[in-house]
Amino acid sequence: MDDARTTCYTSTMEIHALASLSKNKSLVPYSYNKEITSEDVLIKVKYRTLSNSDVLFIDDYWGNTAFPVVPSEDVIGEVIKKGNAVKNLHVGDFVGIGYEVYSCGRCEYCKKGLEQFCQKQRNLRIHEQGGLSDYMIVHHDFAFPIPQELQRPEATPLFCAGLTVYSAIVNNAISKRMKVGVIGIGRLGHLALKFLKSMGCETVAFTGDLTKQNDLKTKGFEVIDLKEELEKFNNSFDCILYTSTIDLNWDDYLKLLKPTGKLCIVGFPQNQISFSAGLLNDYSRRQIVGNFIGSRDDMKMMIAYAAKNNILADVDTFSFNESNKVLGMVKDGGIPYIAVIKS
Ligand SMILES: [Zn+2]
Repeated sequence: MDDARTTCYTSTMEIHALASLSKNKSLVPYSYNKEITSEDVLIKVKYRTLSNSDVLFIDDYWGNTAFPVVPSEDVIGEVIKKGNAVKNLHVGDFVGIGYEVYSCGRCEYCKKGLEQFCQKQRNLRIHEQGGLSDYMIVHHDFAFPIPQELQRPEATPLFCAGLTVYSAIVNNAISKRMKVGVIGIGRLGHLALKFLKSMGCETVAFTGDLTKQNDLKTKGFEVIDLKEELEKFNNSFDCILYTSTIDLNWDDYLKLLKPTGKLCIVGFPQNQISFSAGLLNDYSRRQIVGNFIGSRDDMKMMIAYAAKNNILADVDTFSFNESNKVLGMVKDGGIPYIAVIKS
């Protein structure tokens, strides 16, 4: 822990969770002790997501999972205790917690309000345990107060998935009347569609899932099947947001972009992306960009925007003791958008 933060320990708490003890293992009851410093809040967890991201961490897909690992990176809970130095939160406040739970507060990125690039940041499931537990202890800077409209299971996915797509949208200057495509309509993609539509964008969903295609059409979204002949849509999109895990013929999708259009990657394709360089430069100045979660300011803006515009996720809810079943369903594609586990 960086010395910029106070580490005046006030008490220790035993936290009861479900964890995978080693790579690819099912969840089992697991307890750990954690100190509550003067800058922390103790949160009673109400709702948390389980998603493909948790499956990948349990599989140690990125090679940086800290086992035993408690899953979940989107959490809603209630503050029940706070350290002496915490001024912005009060006992009884509902808060949202996402993937990043600490930054150093003094590096060049933290000073610019870009905490998501801090090299000393701490993240759920790598440095700290996730939210599939009775309580969490986090630094007050990363427990974000949420209004009454968002104190419900359907708001839970906003704090990692929602932040990631909202931050991609606002930081790439996507605005009203732009034509924006979203590839992959799962946890991130379906939230991206909701944000974009509410912002007045011409929003197009790219998915190969026939059930989702029908669902999206009834909700008023334009849908393009991944197998469809794409050529007729060439040079028509201002931005395409990739939120999927499938490999694509990337040239076909770059051709859909207008000159100066952007392909923004927030998902993880199985293989390296390859494309024809000419599609970035010849008559076009197209860009390929990425996005990683968002800053604390992005989070606050996202919370205010979602509350005002009624942006909520399409969730399936389950009880805590169904967590292993839910992870199995996530792996098998049995959760269309996102699963939320209630306490
Ligand atoms: Zn920093």
